[in-house]
Formats: sequence, structure tokens, C-alpha cells
Amino acid sequence: MNHERSRELYDRALSVMPGGVNSSVRATQPYPFFVESGDGAHVIDADGNRYIDYVMGYGPLLYGHDLPEPVQAAIQSHASDGPMYGAPTQVEVELAEFVARHVPSVDMIRFVNSGTEATVSAVRLARAYTGRDKIVVMQGGYHGAQESTLVEGDATDPSPSTPGIPDEFAKHTLPVPFNDAEAIRTLFEEHNEEIAAVLVEPILGNKGIVTPVDGYHDTLRELCDDYGSLLIFDEVITGFRVGGLQCAQGKFGVTPDLTTFGKIIGGGFPVGAIGGRADIIEHFTPAGNVFQSGTFSGHPVTMAAGLATLEYAAEHDVYDHINGLADQLRSGLTDILEDRAPEYTVVGTDSMFKTIFTRNGATERGEKCGAGCRQDPNCPNFESCPKTGADVANAETDRWERLFWQEMKDRGVFLTANQFESQFVSYAHTEEDIERTLEAYAEAL
Ligand code: PLP
Repeated sequence: MNHERSRELYDRALSVMPGGVNSSVRATQPYPFFVESGDGAHVIDADGNRYIDYVMGYGPLLYGHDLPEPVQAAIQSHASDGPMYGAPTQVEVELAEFVARHVPSVDMIRFVNSGTEATVSAVRLARAYTGRDKIVVMQGGYHGAQESTLVEGDATDPSPSTPGIPDEFAKHTLPVPFNDAEAIRTLFEEHNEEIAAVLVEPILGNKGIVTPVDGYHDTLRELCDDYGSLLIFDEVITGFRVGGLQCAQGKFGVTPDLTTFGKIIGGGFPVGAIGGRADIIEHFTPAGNVFQSGTFSGHPVTMAAGLATLEYAAEHDVYDHINGLADQLRSGLTDILEDRAPEYTVVGTDSMFKTIFTRNGATERGEKCGAGCRQDPNCPNFESCPKTGADVANAETDRWERLFWQEMKDRGVFLTANQFESQFVSYAHTEEDIERTLEAYAEAL
């Protein structure tokens, strides 16, 4: 593949943008390809190379790159009416009503401009509502580029995970292992009335796609109820992807107090949102006194794109189609791994998937799985599959990032460059795409 133009563009970008990119994950080695356009489930780079795309903008693109006609029309009509006004519009009311109708936890919603902004505002709201400071997060969870959650270590010794965050901030954040009911029970016993909220991705989507073990979210719900803390589901990735229009909370049957959204809810445009119980959400200004505001919040083009995206999904077999294709992909990958790399694991659910370059304990014990349990509790090898963020920590990340990702790119398949970030099947993917992808995985492995 020729990458001359991408190389030139990257050279220029390095002079004017730190690392040559505007989001660190895009700085792939040795240099990123620059995208010229999208076409169905494919992207075409500046040198004319075509890739089957499973990055899908890191999650927002439910339909791939060719939007269904009504979505396209809604975007164009709102854009041509004038980009934005600084005054309310009908379309934001309609999107709010749609979300409140479908998502169990949402009575009211505040739209913002990114997933990060949503989790920042949700944390502020939870602290104000409860009058407490501490936030519990999961090790391996991700909630955007915000001070309260860029924290590592454990609850006894939390520390900032990046320079620029005061140690004092990190002290208010308590990381616990995901799926460990005992650990969080003990934490609540120790800190009880200090804990404002538990902030959790219902499925860890940035650390190898770790799904909850049976009953884990019910335990979180009970603990939050018992101790007067709020349960916040960060559905920035899972929202309107896992569990269809009811989101992951519908799939798992647990209703949080607050939910943060991003990605799909804006139909491919910058978005975030905080939804939840009316008596909590109404603490946001101007209904209440918890400051929350934004020039671009509820942007009419974004709202129109989000609404048309969700309405289209409500009226078509979108989720059946993409989940079916993803099942095909996961089961094909399971067969390939069984044959070529039994020490690796296929993870994912609904339209999320990834191959993780470890099988945790099983690898150490020299066991061969091959059952393809995909974290199914009924699988005989369930115990050896990744269940916490820490379980995937010994994955061969270098092999993924420096070798495998490149091999796949050279075969025309665009995956997320980080070993732990989820990949996504879209409505635009076809059976032929899946077959070609499986061939590429088999060869590259
Ligand atoms: N929460 C989760 C679960 C995410 O995966 C992300 C981003 O990928 C965010 C929050 C932050 O969203 P954004 O990048 O839109 O700020």
C-alpha cells in the first residue's frame, strides 16, 4: 500500500498539533493514515487505500459512513436552516422525549457536547445531591479526560494517572476491581456515608470488553440504596448499542439513578448527555443550583442527527442485523483462535468485539480453552476468561500494537490500535466484509 500523502500530511501535522493528532488514540505507528472519505462500512485514505472499518469513529457510527436517507435529510435540513442559535429548539425536546420514552432510568436529560462533559457534570451533580465527595470507579474503567476519574491504584492509595491533576483530587476517587462484589461491599463498609456515587461502565469497553458477572450490577444497586449513594451508569459506549434502545441497563435489568451518554445519541456529531431521575436532574441550573451550561449544548444539527438515528433504529431491524453479523464475526474469530492462537480470547457482546491477546490464568496454567465461551457464565472455562480490567493487564499489547494491528491494516482492515479498546460492527457491514475480515485475521495471526 502506498501511504505517501498520509506521510506528508502527518509531517505537516506534527509541526502544528502535538503528536500530529487531536486525540491521542489516533497517533498510530509509524504514522496514521489520513482519511479522505467514508463509503458504507469502509474508509478510504488520502492515498486511495480502502479499509473495512471497525473503529467506526470509536463508537458513534451505528450506520457506518453512509447514513440512511432520513438521517441525512434531517442533518442537511437543520444545517441549512442555520447552524445554531443560543436559544432552545423543538428538535432537542423531541430527542429528550425519545430518550425518556425508551431508557428505563431517564425521566429528564441535559444535553452536552462530549462524553467527558457528561461524566464531569454527572459527578458534580452526584456530589451536590448527596453532599458527599467520594466517587467509586472501576479499575480499567474509562470516563473521558476528566480530573475526577483519571485515577489509578486502588481505594487505599489512589493517585492521578496523568500529570496535571492534584493528588488532592485523586484522594476523592476510589478505584475497585470490576466484578468483585466483596471488594465494593468492604469499601462501602469503610467509607459508607462519604460515597457520593458509584460510576461504572455497565460493560468495560476500554479495557478489553469485560462484561458483568451475573448479579454484579444488582449488588451495586443494593449497596447504593443501602448507603444513600447514587448509581451512575456510563453508557457513552453502550448507550443505544448494547441492549438496543433500552441500552445496557435494559439488557441487565438494573436501573441506575443517573446515566451518561455520548457517541450514538448524537448520530456522529459531538455530543454527551446526563439523564436520570427527575428529582436529581432538576438540581442542574436553572431548575436547581448545580451549575451546568454550554454554548453548543443541544446543538440543533446534533440533536437532529441523534433523533433521526434513533428513530430509524426504532423502525428497522438495525440491532438484529448488526448483532447477528457481530455474532458471526465472534464465532468465526473463536474458530480461528482455537486453531492459531488458543492462548488468546474473543470478547464482546451485541455489536462490540475484540480479540484479547491473553487468556489470563488459563495461559499461565497452560490450559487450552477453545470453547469460545465469550464470557458466558455457562461455559466450562468461564473462570479463566477476563472478568476484571486487571485480568487483561498481561495481554501482549506490544504484539497487538506494533505487529498485529499493522498486519491487519496492510490487509485492508482498520481496527482500534489500542489492544483494549472495543471495535464495532455497523449496519453498513456486509457478510462479505465479515468473510474478508476473518480471512485477514487468520492470515495475520
Ligand atoms: N465514557 C466512556 C465509557 C467512554 O468510552 C468515553 C470515550 O470513549 C468517554 C466517557 C468520553 O467521551 P468523549 O471522548 O466523547 O469525551
